[in-house]
Amino acid sequence: MRQGAGTSVNELCEELLNTNPIGSIVTSCDTCNNINRTSIDKLSFNCYRPTHQTNNDDSQATSIKDWIVQNLSPEGTFQGVKCCRKDIQSITTLTKIPRILAFHVSNTDLLPDKNFTLQLKSKQKLNLRGLIYFGDFHFTSRFISKNGDIWFNDRMTTGRECRKEGNIESTNLADLLTCGTHTTTLLIYACG
Ligand SMILES: [Zn+2]
Repeated sequence: MRQGAGTSVNELCEELLNTNPIGSIVTSCDTCNNINRTSIDKLSFNCYRPTHQTNNDDSQATSIKDWIVQNLSPEGTFQGVKCCRKDIQSITTLTKIPRILAFHVSNTDLLPDKNFTLQLKSKQKLNLRGLIYFGDFHFTSRFISKNGDIWFNDRMTTGRECRKEGNIESTNLADLLTCGTHTTTLLIYACG
């Protein structure tokens, strides 16, 4: 990644992750009765820091798996979308399970799970394959190979080479939240 590329990695990912619709998001406000339906035409979800945080709120998502369970549930979620100055219900429904899915997780502290399973007619498992970190106007990344090896890349110091850091089986997932002084901005999952 070019030094000083700023937030353009997010824009780049948005471009790369364009897709034919894989589902829809329906939001409804019971104050103004406004109902909005948008199709999901990106292979990425914006995760958000929950707006209400109480000390004993067990319903709070702490990992990507929790976030998916909450956000893809048929009842939907009341977090993330506002109308009439309050959080309104949004129901996300997938009609296709994509082979790649990314999550914008800046400032959420959501833990990356090693994998998760989505189910429509059949089950599909997606594995953590990449993490992109941001800090000091600079991006770094970790790539996870099929055998679980974690590879670190920083164009500025490693160039095209990657440095092996360990294996995901023996890594505490919380340790993946940061990379030096950088924090996770994007998690990438893929089938296989
Ligand atoms: Zn409204």
